[in-house]
Amino acid sequence: MAGLDWGGIYKELGAKPVINAIGSVTLLGGSTPIPEVKEAMERADAAYIPLMELEEKAGDAIAKMVDVPAAYITSGAGSALTLATAAFMAGDDDDNIQQLPNTTGMKNEILIQKRQRYWYDRCLELAGAKLVDFGSEENTTREDLEEAIGPNTAVVHYLAVEQSPDPHALSLEETLDVAQAHNVPVMVDAAGQIYPLENFGKYVRMGADFQCIAAKYLGASQSVGLALGSKEMIRKLSLQSFIGYEGRRIRGVGRPQKVDRQEMIGAVAAVKHWMTMNHEDRLAKAEGQSQTILAPLRGIRGLKAELINNVIGHISFGVRLEVDSTVTGKTAHDIVAELKEGEPPIWTRVRDGEDCVLIHVFGLNDGEDRIVGERIASLFPMG
Ligand SMILES: *Cc1c(COP(=O)(O)O)cnc(C)c1O
Repeated sequence: MAGLDWGGIYKELGAKPVINAIGSVTLLGGSTPIPEVKEAMERADAAYIPLMELEEKAGDAIAKMVDVPAAYITSGAGSALTLATAAFMAGDDDDNIQQLPNTTGMKNEILIQKRQRYWYDRCLELAGAKLVDFGSEENTTREDLEEAIGPNTAVVHYLAVEQSPDPHALSLEETLDVAQAHNVPVMVDAAGQIYPLENFGKYVRMGADFQCIAAKYLGASQSVGLALGSKEMIRKLSLQSFIGYEGRRIRGVGRPQKVDRQEMIGAVAAVKHWMTMNHEDRLAKAEGQSQTILAPLRGIRGLKAELINNVIGHISFGVRLEVDSTVTGKTAHDIVAELKEGEPPIWTRVRDGEDCVLIHVFGLNDGEDRIVGERIASLFPMG
């Protein structure tokens, strides 16, 4: 564990710190800014800066590093999605901008594949837009999209999941093809699509008008996100920003989604670090941590423990536990609950309707890999 004072600042308040073996989840704090980011953020303290200017310069720096036309720093990827939908609906018309979330007189429909409905799609509706499904539960075709596009279509949304592509969804290539033929813009949630590096910003380079990135996966504050896109799109998105209240005396929907100047500077430092760091070392460390967790779990009857090594996106190595409850007397849900009840609590993941435990090393401090492995082993005393 990281030092004797592990979690002390939380304990002083009577709150209970936990070992994060789930990964970059918002519920537990999402990320720990890396030293390079903290140092940059601290340097930002010394002076104030007009935030419209900082957003522009920081966005330019990020756009250059990831090879997209333009970028904007937002209050998480969730806010990037909301501001983007606002921009697609209101454009650069200040009356429209101030009217949202009332969308009267604006195109307000966001098309989304039924198969791609997901947890964060609520962020797409926050500025007043309406989600309209296309395709079926089983699959999505070009014709489904053709038919769905209508006079109220503001944008087509696409969820990029390169680590486990959906063969029955309409691909981004086809989505772009159909949408562009109808002069409809396309936005992409690519929050975790940051590795391999050529994927970072790829969807904008493919022709999407916008994509988001969650900086929680990059070693920045989890409260930061990136909007990447065409110059025109990012200009419109910037008009929705919280800064507009004072900067332009225009009250857009973005006001409750602030970003600190320190966070903006931190985001630039995080992108710079990510684009230049040695990813072989990062992956080797994560694989080593996963192997340390696995070591004490070999040979336990009824427990199948294996390495997860899909390194695409933000998830690198990890461990997957499959339990045969007829042998162990425990389900995956039991294991997750028992780990949470331990001292200190260890948080791992089991998805609804699945019977396996997923462990990710993203949030583990040095030495915590060993603790996690041994604690899991201790739940099977008959091993
Ligand atoms: C984490 C995540 C988000 C939300 O990002 P925040 O920065 O936490 O707002 C949206 N979409 C996907 C796919 C994510 O993984």
